[in-house]
Amino acid sequence: MLKYKCDNAAVWFDEVNESYSTQECCVCHARTGPKGLADLAMRQWTCSVCGTQHDRDTNAAKNILVRGLALMEIAIAVEARADEAAMNEVVGVSVTTGAGYGPLDAGIPFQVA
Ligand SMILES: [Zn+2]
Repeated sequence: MLKYKCDNAAVWFDEVNESYSTQECCVCHARTGPKGLADLAMRQWTCSVCGTQHDRDTNAAKNILVRGLALMEIAIAVEARADEAAMNEVVGVSVTTGAGYGPLDAGIPFQVA
């Protein structure tokens, strides 16, 4: 349901792997949090590695946010590369930026907008 609502609103959507999001400390990424059914009632915990005190749900939400942002960063990079390749095809020269690339190497005067 969330996917089609995001599609309708033209916003980015992806699912993240929630595995260990409750157990993993959002500060040091050690898996020292509550584990299994026995620890299900544990709402707060302290990371034994870095000493950070966590609210179970807030910690998990932070881990899921970081995983989602990482996926979004990859998706944007892939899209940028596809755009760059399409632009190269239209222009007929490489518009790749960085050392050894760019308009000067192609003989086109560089113009700052
Ligand atoms: Zn920690």
